[in-house]
Amino acid sequence: MSGAESFPEIRDAVRKLCAQFPGEYWRALDRERTYPTEFVQALTRAGFLSVLIPEAYGGSGLGLAAATAVLEEIHRSGCNGGACHAQMYTMGTILKHGSEAQKQAYLPKIASGELRLQAFGVTEPTAGTDTTRISTFARREGDHYVVSGQKLWISRAEHSDLMVLLCRTTAREEAAKPSDGMSVLIVDLRDSVGNGLTIRPVRTMLNHATTELFFDGLKVPVENLVGEEGKGFRYILDGMNAERILIASECIGDGRFFVDRASAYAKEREVFGRPIGQNQGVQFPIARAHVQVTAASLMVDKAAAMFDAGEPCGTEANMAKMLASEASWFAADTAIQTHGGFGFAEDYDIERKFRETRLYQVAPISTNLILSHVGTHVLGMPKSF
Ligand SMILES: Cc1cc2nc3c(=O)[nH]c(=O)nc-3n(C[C@H](O)[C@H](O)[C@H](O)COP(=O)(O)OP(=O)(O)OC[C@H]3O[C@@H](n4cnc5c(N)ncnc54)[C@H](O)[C@@H]3O)c2cc1C
Repeated sequence: MSGAESFPEIRDAVRKLCAQFPGEYWRALDRERTYPTEFVQALTRAGFLSVLIPEAYGGSGLGLAAATAVLEEIHRSGCNGGACHAQMYTMGTILKHGSEAQKQAYLPKIASGELRLQAFGVTEPTAGTDTTRISTFARREGDHYVVSGQKLWISRAEHSDLMVLLCRTTAREEAAKPSDGMSVLIVDLRDSVGNGLTIRPVRTMLNHATTELFFDGLKVPVENLVGEEGKGFRYILDGMNAERILIASECIGDGRFFVDRASAYAKEREVFGRPIGQNQGVQFPIARAHVQVTAASLMVDKAAAMFDAGEPCGTEANMAKMLASEASWFAADTAIQTHGGFGFAEDYDIERKFRETRLYQVAPISTNLILSHVGTHVLGMPKSF
């Protein structure tokens, strides 16, 4: 089934909700780089952010394909799920690797929205994409870990109660393998700020509430360790498939937004006495964008179906993210070109979405790293790092 046809009731309900948050709402927030609190609350109340939490823990347990439909429609409507998508998947680390006590303590409250788990801290300024080089360290002292170090690009930390944090518990040089010796901690941000954690916002070209975090002796109870000490890298990798597939679905939504807007404008804007869309130089790029978004959406559907079936889907998640982010970027560029000067006017929302969708070729994983995965893991060519 194509992405556009799946979950019609969910899509319809998401569209209705998004209609309450039109372009003016997002433009005003974008100007001030303000978080869309009302939008996130509305999605939470409607239960859309808990679709991946099993019913036993208070969610709807609908699975990843349903979650992709939610995010795609949010983005197709001109809204931005980047403010809250992490509430959907970050809990997967607790669900898959946490103790029963942790699941009981956190998941029902995340499902109801009582607890916001919007932040996950992996990236560091010096390690970059090479996650095994992270140096934020959690030292065990009795019944606490004491965390010191720095993270960068940690989004939504100021709008979250909890954060899933990846840090070293054994130095890289002392670990059996570079990917060993990292652990996942659940950090309660409400108790932490001012007690060993400082959050500093980073202003970027889009409204993404991203921050820099400084840890200076932050105490985290040992009971907040997820799974086994030293195995955190694997837990985080597990969660990345869901993240990549969901972000790919946001790109599909963005791509459809741009194609919808560009084709509508090309039909109505008249220059030289005829609609600009009658010129094939204008029409064909929009048609090409549609073809590319449609093809990429099939890859997203495939990756989501494999994820929901419990099959390994790392390669498919990566390919879906790459294809979708490139399709949305081509569609964004085409929409700007189609709108001529109006593409640059804030009021049309094209330039805002253009900035927003550009992110996804860099985060959460850059295109080169995906190509490297495919080149070496799928095609067996020599590794370059
Ligand atoms: C707005 C925003 C929000 C983010 N939110 C979060 C978040 O919530 N949590 C979090 O943990 N992280 C977050 N990130 C971080 C994001 O995941 C990283 O920026 C991304 O993974 C790229 O890492 P880097 O910026 O360190 O780039 P680098 O690793 O420094 O890479 C720079 C460039 O070099 C290329 N490159 C590097 N090595 C190679 C190689 N061997 N071969 C070929 N090319 C290579 C990369 O592809 C990239 O294009 C966010 C980033 C942004 C910009």
